[in-house]
Amino acid sequence: MQKKIRIIGGGLAGSEAALQFAKRGWQVDLYEMRPKRMTPAHSTDKLGELVCSNSLKSSLLTTASGLLKAELRLLGSELLKIADEVRVPAGNALAVDRDLFSEKVTERILQESMIKVHNEEVKELGDEPTILATGPLTSDAMSSVLNNLVGQDDLHFYDAIAPIISAESINREIVYRKSRYDKGTADYLNCPFTKEEYLRFVDALLEGEIYMGKSFEGELLQKNIQFYENCTPVEELAKRGKDTLRFGVMRPVGLELPDTGRRPYAVIQLRSENNDETAFNLVGCQTMMTQDSQRKVFRMIPGLESAEFYRYGSIHRNSYINAPLLLNRDLSLKTKKNVYIAGQLSGVEGYVESIASGLLVSLIITERLDYLPNTTIIGQLWERLTNTDGKEFTPQNANYGLLPPLEVKVSSKAERKETFAKRAIQSLEEALER
Ligand SMILES: Cc1cc2nc3c(=O)[nH]c(=O)nc-3n(C[C@H](O)[C@H](O)[C@H](O)COP(=O)(O)OP(=O)(O)OC[C@H]3O[C@@H](n4cnc5c(N)ncnc54)[C@H](O)[C@@H]3O)c2cc1C
Repeated sequence: MQKKIRIIGGGLAGSEAALQFAKRGWQVDLYEMRPKRMTPAHSTDKLGELVCSNSLKSSLLTTASGLLKAELRLLGSELLKIADEVRVPAGNALAVDRDLFSEKVTERILQESMIKVHNEEVKELGDEPTILATGPLTSDAMSSVLNNLVGQDDLHFYDAIAPIISAESINREIVYRKSRYDKGTADYLNCPFTKEEYLRFVDALLEGEIYMGKSFEGELLQKNIQFYENCTPVEELAKRGKDTLRFGVMRPVGLELPDTGRRPYAVIQLRSENNDETAFNLVGCQTMMTQDSQRKVFRMIPGLESAEFYRYGSIHRNSYINAPLLLNRDLSLKTKKNVYIAGQLSGVEGYVESIASGLLVSLIITERLDYLPNTTIIGQLWERLTNTDGKEFTPQNANYGLLPPLEVKVSSKAERKETFAKRAIQSLEEALER
């Protein structure tokens, strides 16, 4: 019997998935609502349109995005092949001619006899096998279908995310490990503030430069976005009053210093990003500040003077689901098993990550893929979406903080990243051979 799949959304994830299915002889119905209905950021009728930057980030294996791209090439990504064909000079980055890129993606898809493109907005989900890849700007009609399926609390619209820093850059002479009131396991690291340090930090937050960004994000910011309360940027909270933070996310009670028993004036907690504690999230520090301001302001936090940023905080319109709560291991919805979620809607973030997600879901369905090494970025993205607790889930992008620590101690930062990359590629090659 002819194997069939319906793919909704002809963006990066949907286009990658369509080509992967067609390559394996599946009949694909690809639905894309543009040009009949546009999103606030897309401006063409082409498939695989890059909405903002034309860069697919670094090609260097010593960067997490470079490593992810190398992994995708090994796994046979079709969109990366096209990106390579239309690349433009950009140093170590894989930047592309954006028009040529989406023209080629569209051409490739239209040439595929196994893919039928429907230029329609999809407003309901049926019972046939379906990949939903409608992206961060999912249409209102589809958002409400999803809302009914997953509930409002687990579908997010605007997103402000907190920075992630490397564990090695934390000054452990100042930062201490403790759970509040010593209850449960001591999972958090704590950065203690004196009164003077706290007041200086709040002033710096108020003076921090806000990112007004590329046209679309800038427009959104000017429209006075409503955030979910636990997603409100830290500088917005600071505006509510000098004490708001220390009675809220920076509350010090129960976090007395282990050596003196003295209670700090305020505390910022750091939560590990992975079981191996190689990277930490600055709890409550979601922000709209520019990267320059983030470096300046967050390095004022006691113990983080030398913080090395794996990911900066940011804000943007972003529909995504709380994947760990809502998805099965095969990326299908727990509440509707014939619907698989891919791309940014599934809780990954970034062009390359969205391509990776489209590729991953295709391999899961067509090849019954059920394993990828946990030393790879793509393997770890899959883990994050399906095998974490879903508490305060934020979109996941490629960063070295996702990877488990190296088995050997490597002190130079550059060498460490090279070793991470070699290990990932080798384990993926071995897995593919098997
Ligand atoms: C404004 C903005 C700027 C961004 N800039 C960058 C950047 O510079 N670099 C980066 O790495 N990432 C960026 N991202 C994040 C993200 O990587 C991209 O949005 C990426 O395109 C996501 O891929 P996707 O396939 O999930 O969604 P998309 O590429 O957005 O594809 C989704 C497709 O679904 C279609 N669609 C939506 N609803 C329906 C429906 N009901 N029926 C049919 N079709 C539908 C849309 O028209 C769209 O073509 C940005 C995101 C936004 C919102």
